[in-house]
Order: sequence, then structure tokens, then C-alpha cells
Amino acid sequence: MSDCLFCKIAAGEIPSKKLHEDELCYAFYDIDPQAPTHFLVIPKAHIPSVSGVDEANAPTVGHIFAVIAELTRTLGIESYRVVSNIGQQAGQSVPHLHFHVLAGRDMTWPPG
Ligand code: 5GP
Ligand code: ZN
Repeated sequence: MSDCLFCKIAAGEIPSKKLHEDELCYAFYDIDPQAPTHFLVIPKAHIPSVSGVDEANAPTVGHIFAVIAELTRTLGIESYRVVSNIGQQAGQSVPHLHFHVLAGRDMTWPPG
């Protein structure tokens, strides 16, 4: 999608602190970290949110979770939280599917 911030980041058109890239996804550090470690993993294809996941793109989402597991292992992170906000009330500010990976501090439950 031409006017999407995360499509542009995934395409390298907007700079980011990249952690990982492959043919399906892109991982980069959040510009406004909410924990000592806070990165995002996004599909390269534009999907608006979890509500846009279907049987056709579900393999990409599964791949993203495998990448999250591998990246956290590589970073030596044993405990972490994976969050995806869907829609305005849940706090989604960028309408391109992304999974937040947060680690390095105690987390509260329920989330705010
Ligand atoms: P959401 O609020 O949609 O769940 O998450 C969007 C996230 O993207 C926020 O945590 C925000 O800090 C991050 N973000 C927004 N713009 C940029 C950017 O230009 N670069 C990076 N690295 N992160 C961004
Ligand atoms: Zn997009």
C-alpha cells in the first residue's frame, strides 16, 4: 500500500533499526520503546491488522511467530510479551499488522 508507514519501512523507504528481514517479514526496533527491549515484527504484505488475517495469509503470520521465537532466542530473551492491538479502542495507531515484542521488565496483568 503506497501510503502506509509500515509498508514504507518494510521497503526500506523510511529508515528503521532493523533486526531481521526475509521475503515475508521485517523486524525493527520501536521508535518509542515501552520496555528495555521493544521491537515490532510486520509482514511485508499489507494486512491492516489481525482482523485481516485469513487462510491465505495465515502462513505468513505463522512464519512471523517462528521469527519471533528465533529472534528472542538469539537475543537471549527468555520471557517476553507479544502484543497486537486491533482497532482504535485497543490502541492501534498504525493500520498495518504488527506484533510488538516487549521484554526486560516486569509486566502487569491485566494489560492496561
Ligand atoms: P500500535 O500503536 O499501532 O499498536 O503500534 C505502533 C507502534 O509503532 C508504536 O509503538 C510506535 O511507537 C511505533 N512507530 C510509529 N511510527 C514509527 C516509526 O516511524 N518507526 C518506528 N521504528 N516505530 C514507529
Ligand atoms: Zn502497510
